[in-house]
Amino acid sequence: MRRSRAFIPTTKEAPSDATLPSHIFLARAGFITQVAAGLYNYLPLAKRVIRKIENIVNEEMAKVGAQEVELSFVTPAGLWAESGRIEKFGKELLRFKDRKNNLFVLGPTHEEMMVDLVRNRVTSYKNLPLNLYQIKTKFRDEARPRFGLMRGREFIMKDAYSFHASTEDLDREFEAMEVAYKKILTRLGLDFRVVEADSGAIGGSGSKELMVIADSGEDTIAICSKCEYGANIEAASRSARASVPEAPEADFNKFLTPDIKTIDELAEFFKVDPYYTVKCVAKRVVYEDESEVVLFFVRGCDNLQEVKALNATEALDIVDVTEEELKEIGLEPGFIGPLDQVKAKHVIDSDLKGATNMICGANEDGYHFIGVDMSILDDVAYFADIAEVNEGDICPYCDGELSFTKGIEVGHIFKLGTTYSKPLKAEFLDENGKSQPFIMGTYGMGISRLVASVIEQHHDESGCIWTKETAPYMVNIMINNIKNKAQVEAGEALYEQLQNANVEVMLDDRKERFGFKMKDAELIGFPYTVIVGKELVDGNVQLFDRATKTKESMSVTTIFDRLMELV
Ligand code: ATP
Ligand code: MG
Repeated sequence: MRRSRAFIPTTKEAPSDATLPSHIFLARAGFITQVAAGLYNYLPLAKRVIRKIENIVNEEMAKVGAQEVELSFVTPAGLWAESGRIEKFGKELLRFKDRKNNLFVLGPTHEEMMVDLVRNRVTSYKNLPLNLYQIKTKFRDEARPRFGLMRGREFIMKDAYSFHASTEDLDREFEAMEVAYKKILTRLGLDFRVVEADSGAIGGSGSKELMVIADSGEDTIAICSKCEYGANIEAASRSARASVPEAPEADFNKFLTPDIKTIDELAEFFKVDPYYTVKCVAKRVVYEDESEVVLFFVRGCDNLQEVKALNATEALDIVDVTEEELKEIGLEPGFIGPLDQVKAKHVIDSDLKGATNMICGANEDGYHFIGVDMSILDDVAYFADIAEVNEGDICPYCDGELSFTKGIEVGHIFKLGTTYSKPLKAEFLDENGKSQPFIMGTYGMGISRLVASVIEQHHDESGCIWTKETAPYMVNIMINNIKNKAQVEAGEALYEQLQNANVEVMLDDRKERFGFKMKDAELIGFPYTVIVGKELVDGNVQLFDRATKTKESMSVTTIFDRLMELV
């Protein structure tokens, strides 16, 4: 491509709302332009990067026998009603009616559509397993679209769906897909980690996320210092503590604790470790048609993990409550304890099951109980894992310690089981001629988010540094002075030579200052730039390596071979 003809509108100014390097540089380097919140145009450079990622995905999918399809972007709302997700997805679903008043939804993901495609078309175990995927635009009316391609409203997803006759076969496919996804990310040159993820109401160990490690990541992941364990903080678990602080032994008693409302004040007042206090986190839990106040109890040293809380209550959302709302139902903010199960629903963290020597609110203004033995609640209360792990907690699989790091979720693989096939009545005949719902898996990967992730991991103060597998062009040939006939001829010759060798090459033939062209090349991030300039009189050109920002002089006769080695 000749740069003089290329549509690459680079700018000095970053978008005013851009904070992440990927957003800033992709916009400044002319890869994307914003249309409206969360909506972007992909310009020629971005299309090339996307196509490269897609090619890698297609190659790896072919290796595991997945077949590419393309389903309609506009999906009938009726399917979403059948699965029951029309409510659950809420405002992220963009709904609209056609001229005949039929209700449609812009596809935010395609489980329903895939199940609908396969039901009644695949009817026997003999035709299973089946894995179908697509690379397709998705639309989610995200509450806070931000960070450029990272969280768009319209974005490109690669989504695969597998159908099986047994859970064993799903397990096999899930593993194969995990391997394939790891290969894709490795080929893209990304530093990533596969972590255990929240499986929502479905539960089980069948959900993993692929996280690109980056400080700018929106997800917090807990990783073990010794073993391979890693988990999204929404799903991370821990072993019981190996050693616990000294217990404040006391007989059960009600104690006057005026104005002592926070855990810190309480621990200080009784001179105990917060480990022996019970913290109440009151929330309003929202279901489809109603909402209620729920009291969540964790140890004073822990915090409530809201996604775990959401799963424990099978709710749609969890929101804050005011002290007034609590008082209205007869609760005493600051003194709420778990021994009165009457005024509101309780969920108690599993780590509190059977805990002794505890201090908790007495549900009476100005009082706490001491010497509480939580085992009296064993048969009456609802216990669940609702506490967030802390750095330094013990790994659930070994004696290593957990620490936190930030990640960008670029992929999510999920064992669905019959979650969609059952409500949508998608069945096959098993070996005994009996009708069974398909056992399914779903595997999503954010293609446009991957473009941004590559830059989050590979950039410097001057701009993008594309990896070999993702670069829009591998080589940029820069003719320093386009009025110099020899420079033009040498540049053109190398350009032709590289094109003939199928190297993706840009020829910067613009009549611009050297400094300007060089800055532009650094901003765009071509891995290699050949500078055809003054040294040509001595038969030399310069090779600029974008990643290291180093220049090397070499003979114009050897540059082609050198580039062929590099690319
Ligand atoms: P997130 O927690 O980031 O909102 P999600 O759990 O909603 O992601 P999935 O429904 O699992 O995401 O979608 C599969 C993949 O699609 C994600 O792993 C991510 O890479 C990508 N993705 C999801 N939402 C967006 C978005 N708004 N913009 C860009 N990519 C997205
Ligand atoms: Mg989301």
